[in-house]
Amino acid sequence: MAGLAREGNSFGGGLGTVDDFRRDTWCEGEEIFSLLSRNDSMAGALRVADERGVEVVPTFHARSVSGPTMAADAYAELKQRVLDGLAAVVDQVDAVYLRLHGAMTAEGCDDVEGDLLKAVRELVGPDMPIAASFDLHAHLTRDIVATTPLLAGYLTYPHVDMADTGRRAMTLLLDQLAGTINGTVGFRKIPVMSASEVHDTSNGPVAEVARLRDELVASGKILDGSIFTTQPWLDVTGLGWGVVVVTDNDATGAQQCADELAAELFDRRERLVVHKMPLSEAIERAAVRAGKGGPVVLGDGADSPSAGSTGDGADLLAAVLAAELAGPAFCTVVDRPAVATCLAAGLAATVTVRVGGTLSPNFFAPVTVTGRVITISDGTTTSPTRPISSGRGVVLAIGTTYLVITEHPTSMVDPRLYRAMGLDPDGAWLVQAKSAGQYRDGFAHVAGDLVDVDMRGPSQHDLLSLPFRRATHAWWPKDRDVVRGW
Ligand SMILES: [Zn+2]
Repeated sequence: MAGLAREGNSFGGGLGTVDDFRRDTWCEGEEIFSLLSRNDSMAGALRVADERGVEVVPTFHARSVSGPTMAADAYAELKQRVLDGLAAVVDQVDAVYLRLHGAMTAEGCDDVEGDLLKAVRELVGPDMPIAASFDLHAHLTRDIVATTPLLAGYLTYPHVDMADTGRRAMTLLLDQLAGTINGTVGFRKIPVMSASEVHDTSNGPVAEVARLRDELVASGKILDGSIFTTQPWLDVTGLGWGVVVVTDNDATGAQQCADELAAELFDRRERLVVHKMPLSEAIERAAVRAGKGGPVVLGDGADSPSAGSTGDGADLLAAVLAAELAGPAFCTVVDRPAVATCLAAGLAATVTVRVGGTLSPNFFAPVTVTGRVITISDGTTTSPTRPISSGRGVVLAIGTTYLVITEHPTSMVDPRLYRAMGLDPDGAWLVQAKSAGQYRDGFAHVAGDLVDVDMRGPSQHDLLSLPFRRATHAWWPKDRDVVRGW
């Protein structure tokens, strides 16, 4: 058992580091068993192994909050850790399970998982079964599929079936090992991209095709199948949605089913439209509601750390300050220098600092604010699924606006970060959630209203105004007359 998981974003500033993984999930050897309590693919895979009496040899697994392209040397170090862990035990094991994400990028490498899987295949030889589990936002490639047919991706967005995905991949692996199946794979890449706001697997175009996939599994025609709506904020060659189908000793049937599902997705492309509210209108809505029935939560997907944005956007903050709301507004920004300034000033001090635009200045401009330091934290960990460190942090009270400033980005899909910093969203008029879609679930219990706001940033819904340089092939909606190709 091994893993390496991160979702990349090609548009945010800076480069990913090994420390990004150490702030999130870092397991050496037996520490992998600590994931059993989480809703995680590794946990699901471990449980199946246990149920089937299979001895597990844990090696190395690291996961990072989404973020920019990895520095080449940082990826090289992580890859080597995975390979060293496997090399040490390869003579004692019969099969390999890898817990991946599928949308990691590194300097000089568009397809990290393809690169990693190829190296693992070289290490273990041509005959040892390998299974891998992925996020629904994986960028599946020929290199990945050429390594092994035993592949499974999340079936849900917002994601809830992480453990179950590990269970599916591990089941394929153990069945292959037992000789009860001979896994064969069909794969199709689809020249379509869309912002994640329309990847919903409960309603809408993706949900309709997901039901067709479920019917194929239920009928016994296929063993497994995964629809990959792919991280849209990757600038890599061959970018696009994908479908993978696994069958028992029937490569032709697998390809037919993959092609059918891919065609159903392609034919629904015109419905992949995202509508968002102008920022001024969203703030006006919060002013009119005045906190009655809970705050208006503004989903700022353009600066979503869980989509790989850097969290240093301050445009929404600037607009909230300019609006001079009569009631409390909560905002967040990642800004290491500003945290240092506030900590040096100390609790209850009044400080003037520039915040925003320190990491992705190509998208975000700084704002100068003056406020009182009302909370100091020497380290917070937040996220609904696992502890991720946001580093040291402060709360600045700027009139009626309460600004949480942290050193590092963390998941902002629920009120955890605000609560950890002593702010109760129940009493607020307006709350900023740097999240595109998952926040609708995370903030549902406190929000009076949830509004997707039209913003710019490394994970903005408007893909067409992003500077794609490598994904230059034809894809919808960049090329309106793109053809299916199969
Ligand atoms: Zn995802």
